[in-house]
Amino acid sequence: MGISKSRREFKRARRSIPGGVNSPVRAFGSVGGVPRFIASAKGARIRDVDDNEYIDYVGSWGPMILGHAHPKVLAAVREAMALGTSFGAPTVRESDLAEAIRRALPSIQMVRMVSSGTEATMSALRLARGVTGRSRILKFDGCYHGHSDGLLVAAGSGVATLAIPGSPGVPKAMTDLTVVAPFNDLAATRKAFGRWGKDIAAIIVEPIAGNMGCIPPVPGFLAGLREICDEFGALLIFDEVMTGFRVARGGAQRLYKVKPDLTTLGKIVGGGLPAAAYGGRRDLMARIAPEGDVYQAGTLSGNPLAVAAGIATLELLEEPAVYTTLAERSKALTAGLAERAEAQGIPLTTRSIGGMFGFFFHPGPVDCFAQAQQSDAVAFRRFFAAMLEEGIYLAPSPYEAGFVSLAHKKRDIAETLDAADRALLEVARDR
Ligand SMILES: *Cc1c(COP(=O)(O)O)cnc(C)c1O
Repeated sequence: MGISKSRREFKRARRSIPGGVNSPVRAFGSVGGVPRFIASAKGARIRDVDDNEYIDYVGSWGPMILGHAHPKVLAAVREAMALGTSFGAPTVRESDLAEAIRRALPSIQMVRMVSSGTEATMSALRLARGVTGRSRILKFDGCYHGHSDGLLVAAGSGVATLAIPGSPGVPKAMTDLTVVAPFNDLAATRKAFGRWGKDIAAIIVEPIAGNMGCIPPVPGFLAGLREICDEFGALLIFDEVMTGFRVARGGAQRLYKVKPDLTTLGKIVGGGLPAAAYGGRRDLMARIAPEGDVYQAGTLSGNPLAVAAGIATLELLEEPAVYTTLAERSKALTAGLAERAEAQGIPLTTRSIGGMFGFFFHPGPVDCFAQAQQSDAVAFRRFFAAMLEEGIYLAPSPYEAGFVSLAHKKRDIAETLDAADRALLEVARDR
C-alpha cells in the first residue's frame, strides 16, 4: 500500500498544526505509523490522498450513521447553503430539528442547540449547578464528556475519589469539584454520595460507555443511578453524544428504560456538520437564558447548514427497520471477529449494541475502565496495522468504539472478516 502522499502531508501538517492534527487521536499516536490523509468518502468507504480505499468503521467518530456523502444529506446542505450560511438570528428549521429530537427522546421537553459535544456537556452541567445551587459533579472513570476543565480528569487512587487534573492547564481547584467513581459500580457511587452527596449537583454518565471501548451498563446500574439522584436531589445527565440515534432512535435511555433529567446529544444530530444539543425537563431548561437566568450562548449555534444536515439525517432514521439492520451488521461483525479469534486461540471480548461495537484483546469480563486497561495493547496495535494494510479503517486506539453505518452491506462485513482472519494470524504469530 503506497502512503507517500500521506507521509508527506503529515510532515507538512506538523509544521503548522500541533501534532499535524486538529484532534489528538487522529495522529495515530497509540498505534504508530502514518495517519492517512483523507481525500474523499462515499458510503462505507473512505479514500486517502494516495488513492487507497478503506472500509471505514470510524464514521467521523459517530456522525456518519447513513454512510458518507449521503445524497439526501448533501442535497439538504446544498439547498440550505444557497440561502445563506449563517444569520445569527432564529430560523424555522431550528424548531423543526428541536421537534424531531423531542419526538425521538420523550425525556427532552426543550432543547438548546450548541456546536460541539464538549459545549453540550459543559452547558448541561452549568444548568445542573444553577438549578441545584450545588457545585460538585460525579462522573465515571473512563467516560469521556469532552475536554472542558472539570471533565478532563483522571480518578485518584481509591474507590470513589476527587478527580485529579487530566492535563496540564486544568487547575486542581476545578477538578476538586469532580468526584470520580468506577463505571458500573453502584456501591462506589453510593459511597461517594454518602460523603459528598449534599454537594453533588449531578451525575453525568455515558449510559453505554463508548470512550473506553464499548462497555454497556450492567443490569440495574442506570436504574440505580436514577435512584441515588432522586434520593439526594441531584440531577441525572445522560451524555448521549455518542449513543443518541446510534443504539436506538431514542438512545440508550430508550433501550434501558431509565429517564434522565437532562440529555446531551451531538455527533449524529449534526449529520456530519458541527452541531450538538442539550435538553431535558421543561422546568429545568426554562432556567436557560434568556427564558431563565443560567447563561449560555453561541455565535454559530443552530447553524443553518448543520441544522439541515441534522434534520435530513434524523428523517432517514425514522424508519424503524434501520436499527435492526444496524444491530444485525454490527453483531455479524463482532460475532465473526470473536469466532475467528477463538479459532486462533486469541482472547477477545466483543460487544455490539445497535450501530456501535467494540472489542478488547482480553478474556473478559470488561465492565469498567480498569478492566479495559488490562487488554493487550500490543495485540491491538498489531491487529490495527494489519487491518489498515488490508484496507480496513478501524479507530486508531484500543479505547474507542467502532461504528457501523447503514451503508455497510453484508459484503463489506464479509470482506472485513476475511481481512480479520489474516490480521489475527499475524497477532497469533506475535504472541
Ligand atoms: C464525542 C463525545 C463528546 C465530545 O463531543 P465533541 O463534539 O467532540 O466535543 C462528549 N461526550 C461523548 C459521550 C462523546 O462520545
